[in-house]
Amino acid sequence: MPLAYFKHEFLPLEQATVSVATHALNYGTGCFEGIRAYYNAEEDRLFILKLREHFERFWRSCTIMRINPGHSVEEMMERTVELLRRQEFRQDVYIRPLAFKAEPVIKVTLDGIRDEFAIFAVPMGDYIPTTGIHVMVSAWRRLEDNAIPSRAKVTGSYVNTALAVTDAHLSGFDDAIFLTEQGHVAEGSAANLFMVREGTLITPDVSENILEGITRQTIMHLANDLGYPVITRAIDRTELYIADELFLVGTGAQISPITQIDHRMVGTGRIGSITERIQTHYNRAVRGQIPEYRHWLTPVE
Ligand code: PMP
Repeated sequence: MPLAYFKHEFLPLEQATVSVATHALNYGTGCFEGIRAYYNAEEDRLFILKLREHFERFWRSCTIMRINPGHSVEEMMERTVELLRRQEFRQDVYIRPLAFKAEPVIKVTLDGIRDEFAIFAVPMGDYIPTTGIHVMVSAWRRLEDNAIPSRAKVTGSYVNTALAVTDAHLSGFDDAIFLTEQGHVAEGSAANLFMVREGTLITPDVSENILEGITRQTIMHLANDLGYPVITRAIDRTELYIADELFLVGTGAQISPITQIDHRMVGTGRIGSITERIQTHYNRAVRGQIPEYRHWLTPVE
C-alpha cells in the first residue's frame, strides 16, 4: 500500500488529502521537490540521489515563498528515508516533497496562512525517453524571475510547463524548449539544457530564468571529471540548430539526448558520443557503481 508522510505521521497515501478550499490548490502557493532513488539489484538496496541538495533547494524555495515546512532539512531527509524504508521498494522511485499554504481562506497573500508539509513516493522508470527525443522551441516563454521566481520550485509555476509541453505533444514532439523574454535559450519544460559545440559543453547561466538544477550541477561535475570543458553563457535559438549535440538533464528526465529540434537533425540525428559517455557515467554513478560518487547517495537500509 503506498504511504505518505503528512501532518507529522505516516499514513496510506489515499488518506493524505486536503479540502478543495486549500489556499495552494486555489492559488498555486506551494513549493515542491522531485528526488529519485535508484535500486541497485546487486546490493538489494535503494540509493537516494543528492537527498541533502534537494532539501536545501526546497528550503530556499520555501524561503522565497514565505512557506515554513515545519521541519529542518535534516528532519525532512530522515522522514524521506523512513518513508522509503517502510515501503520496501525494489525498483526505481520518484520522491515528491511538498510544502504549501494549507488554510481554507479566500485571500491572496503569503502571510499569516498556516503551511503543511508532505512527502510521498511512487515507482518511476524513464519520465521522458532517454534514447533520443524530438523537441520544438515553444511559443510560450519561460517565466520571468520577477514575475514568478524561476529559481524556486513553485507549484504554480508548472502552469508554464504544462502549457508548453501540451503544445509540444499535440504538435507531435516529445518536449518543448523555452526561450526567455530576451530570446535566449532557457531550458526544457522540466529539465536543464546542455549544448555541445566543438567538444565544449555549454549551458545557460543561472540568471537566464532557469531552475538551478541539481542534475545540471552533477553533469558539470561529471563532464569536468571526464575532461570536457564546461561553460555557462547565453545561448541563441539558432545555435541549437547547428549544435553538435544537445541534451536535457533533470531528476525526472535523467540524461535525455535531443536528436531533432524544430524539424532539424541535431548532429547525425543519433545520440552524440559525448552525450552517450556522460549518460553512461551518470547511470552508473546514480546506482552506486562508481565509488568516487558514492557520497552523492543516501542508502535506504
Ligand atoms: N527545470 C525545471 C523547470 C524543472 O522542473 C526541473 C526538474 N526539477 C529541472 C529544471 C531539473 O532540475 P533537477 O536536476 O534539480 O531535477
